Amino acid sequence: MQELTHYIDGAHVSGASGRFADVMNPATGEVQAKAPLASTDELNRAVEVAAAAQPAWAAVNPQRRARVLMAFVGLLNRDMDKLAEALSREHGKTFPDAKGDIQRGLEVVEYCIGAPQMLKGEYTDSAGPGIDIYSMRQPLGVTAGITPFNFPAMIPMWMFAPAIACGNAFILKPSERDPSVPLMLAELMEEAGLPKGILQVVNGDKESVDAILDHPVIQSVGFVGSTPIAEYIYSRGCAAGKRVQCFGGAKNHMIVMPDADMDQAADALVGAGYGAAGERCMAISVAVPVGDETADRLIEKLVPRIEKLKVGPYTAGDDVDYGPVVTAAAKENILRLVQSGVDQGAELVVDGRDFSLQGYEDGFFVGAHLFDRVTKDMDIYKQEIFGPVLSTVRAQSYEEALSLAMDHEYGNGTAIFTRDGDTARDFANRINIGMVGVNVPIPVPLAYHTFGGWKKSVFGDLNQHGPDAFKFYTRTKTVTARWPSGLKEGGEFHFKAMD
Ligand code: NAD
Repeated sequence: MQELTHYIDGAHVSGASGRFADVMNPATGEVQAKAPLASTDELNRAVEVAAAAQPAWAAVNPQRRARVLMAFVGLLNRDMDKLAEALSREHGKTFPDAKGDIQRGLEVVEYCIGAPQMLKGEYTDSAGPGIDIYSMRQPLGVTAGITPFNFPAMIPMWMFAPAIACGNAFILKPSERDPSVPLMLAELMEEAGLPKGILQVVNGDKESVDAILDHPVIQSVGFVGSTPIAEYIYSRGCAAGKRVQCFGGAKNHMIVMPDADMDQAADALVGAGYGAAGERCMAISVAVPVGDETADRLIEKLVPRIEKLKVGPYTAGDDVDYGPVVTAAAKENILRLVQSGVDQGAELVVDGRDFSLQGYEDGFFVGAHLFDRVTKDMDIYKQEIFGPVLSTVRAQSYEEALSLAMDHEYGNGTAIFTRDGDTARDFANRINIGMVGVNVPIPVPLAYHTFGGWKKSVFGDLNQHGPDAFKFYTRTKTVTARWPSGLKEGGEFHFKAMD
């Protein structure tokens, strides 16, 4: 049994709390490693190290800091297969999907190589007689991030790359379900030239999260995970005076208009609904065909595609469509919600409840499910299922479909499939959701744009990556400077307008 570590002050450090979490192999259902759960003291030790290391890192010029990230990109590419294998083994996602997880993080690292450009301040020459005003972006100091299980490479990189490019130290508290890749990333950053103590990994659960939220030296907290925890972290972190951004859960609707290319829409829905076993915050979990005829045509196209899906372990090759879900508890919760859908009157068109994979009977595999005639009051509509379950809600008009998505408490992503530019444009303008796809089912913005939902999918104002990340991880200081000959002629005691 492998015992995982923390990564503190440039070294693997064994857990000292005596508490551990099981790290499963979701494909076999076996415990493959133990992750240490840090105590408050262990977290405090990482903060001490970070606080001591950060000023020297902040004093390194931005271009040199960016060169560390450049080298890191090379190492990520060098170790891509090794990282993806470790990721699939703990998470369960397919090997190509694991590479995608790393790649989408890597792209944010590439974006952060532009730190010297992003960190340039503003300058006003001669704002008044002999007076110049300039602003600079300075790092916050010690920053921290708490990340979910479903993107164990991408989301840590979305946080630590901009934080470190800006001159901060960063403490990562990854998900206790799949902590190996975060530990490997910290090692690679040091191999790329990052000084010790600037990126540390503290494994843990609520105890270490609370220690982060309460520690007076930690200036900012980034969180990605479920909405109840996002809300908790946001309120406790803000109450402690920190800068906090929290990204929560989702229920993403895809509107299918009668004029949509139905084959294209069905292909998109199958990938977006069942890819990664539905464990993506940008997965489509609700299909909203407009009109009964559209609904019938869509379901007819969906069923054979869903029945053909190949479910299996990542070791079974690249033609596996999706793998197991992350834990036995996640599987149980998904099947419980499926049952509630049946009990509450939805029509289960594709029933995956009896799915079992020969040779992997103890793995956490869940068959694909498709519901039709789902209504707004059902639990499968209201809750995030985070599994391979797609619900169809029939709308009778475009306006009804639009209000359905608008009335849902989550607002992460959405999509519309149509051939009509005017409808698409109206949808993009009016919808109260952060990321919108037009004939694109999973509209995750690229690194140089920003990522973030609206409503209960977000707490805080700045988005992840893109220009917002450089704002989140820096403070603005504005200097008004006068180098006059005048002061020596006598002091000034009143507040002056610039004239
Ligand atoms: P989670 O909320 O259970 O855990 C996220 C992190 O919070 C983990 O590091 C975990 O250790 C910690 N945590 C869990 N319970 C805690 C508690 N009581 N107190 C303090 N910390 C706690 O989420 P998860 O299951 O790892 O991830 C899936 C969720 O994340 C889904 O809801 C998904 O939609 C969401 N997600 C959102 C985005 C986004 O950008 N909006 C991206 C990915 C995932």
